Amino acid sequence: MSNLLITNVRPEDGAAADVLILDGKISAIGTGLRAPAGTPAHDGGGAIAMAPFVEAHVHLDKILWGLPWHSINVPAGLRAMIDNEVEIRRNLPWSVEDRAGRLMRQCVAMGSTHIRSHIDISTFYKLDNIHGVLAAWEKMKDAVGLELVAFPQTGMLIDPGCAELMEASIDEGASVIGGIDPGTIDGDTKGHLDKIFDIAHRKSAKIDIHLHEPGELGLYEMNLICDRTKALGMNGRVVVSHAFCLGDGPAAKVSAMIERLADLQIGIISAVPGEIAFPPMFDLAKANVPCALASDSIRDTWNPHGNGDMLDRCWLFSFRNWCRTDNELLACLDMGRSRGADLLDLKGYGLAPGCEGSLVLVNGENRAQVLVDRPARALVVKAGRIVAENGRYSGPGAA
Ligand SMILES: [Zn+2]
Repeated sequence: MSNLLITNVRPEDGAAADVLILDGKISAIGTGLRAPAGTPAHDGGGAIAMAPFVEAHVHLDKILWGLPWHSINVPAGLRAMIDNEVEIRRNLPWSVEDRAGRLMRQCVAMGSTHIRSHIDISTFYKLDNIHGVLAAWEKMKDAVGLELVAFPQTGMLIDPGCAELMEASIDEGASVIGGIDPGTIDGDTKGHLDKIFDIAHRKSAKIDIHLHEPGELGLYEMNLICDRTKALGMNGRVVVSHAFCLGDGPAAKVSAMIERLADLQIGIISAVPGEIAFPPMFDLAKANVPCALASDSIRDTWNPHGNGDMLDRCWLFSFRNWCRTDNELLACLDMGRSRGADLLDLKGYGLAPGCEGSLVLVNGENRAQVLVDRPARALVVKAGRIVAENGRYSGPGAA
């Protein structure tokens, strides 16, 4: 565990102070702090110190980041895009370990110190993607926290053996069971949901389901998810990612669903899609539904956009919501930080004594201006260890 004294910063753009981190935890925040002999010191130069970003939904195994530009030529349509990805990934020049490591280093350089990643599992991939991502993380686990979702991207019931591999993945390092559009991919909504809830419940795992299905269909499926969450007492352990139906469903049914989500503490993650409605995140937050932003697909066979920068994602959210006041802008910033930490139940998150000694320094006037201008991260610290400087990863395994 690391010690570090960071002097002359403005915690969450408040008054100037020092931050003392001992044994990986914030020991004190105040002026004129004295550190034990031998403690490394870093002059913050008046930068804003912020609690770090949280990347709550990404796909480390799909990434093409760092490879030559990939032109996307597949027609929109879930099955075609799934099959296209499997074909392209057969012949990539870099391994999953190489690609996942590269994206994790990018995320850290942008100020995220914790990542939840979905990892494709099928009878074709077996557990190779999980093993590749874990091999990359092994080299940099002091720089970033990681939790893995066993994700049946290509279908589970239609791929006999896939469910058994997903269950096995929990013994190999995953901690969350994923699911995807049960009516579309597997064509058996109840069967798909029953299976993933059964695995998660027996293995004491969490659940995180991709749900793109819109309107009435999506809301019907969300009610089935709520029913199973309640029946198994899995309150607070289930997340629905995307949930477009909360953005385009009938208003009265969406309001009723928000009440159910709050009651069962089912979380909602949005990647702020460019072309379609997305959940009313501020309404969710107001109703006490766990909710957060995330990158999702980045520079892969699905999507040429994205850069692993949660500050960018928070800005995109603020832009699409036409947020203008400082309070609104700060609420957007929290969607990629504290709300992500709450949704993922990260222990010790925050910029206060007793919390994990992780923070981000940015040069700027205040956090509202930082959200709008999105300056490079001057310093990223994970549990008292400097892991990125001036927008470049410098932690374990740095090139
Ligand atoms: Zn996803």
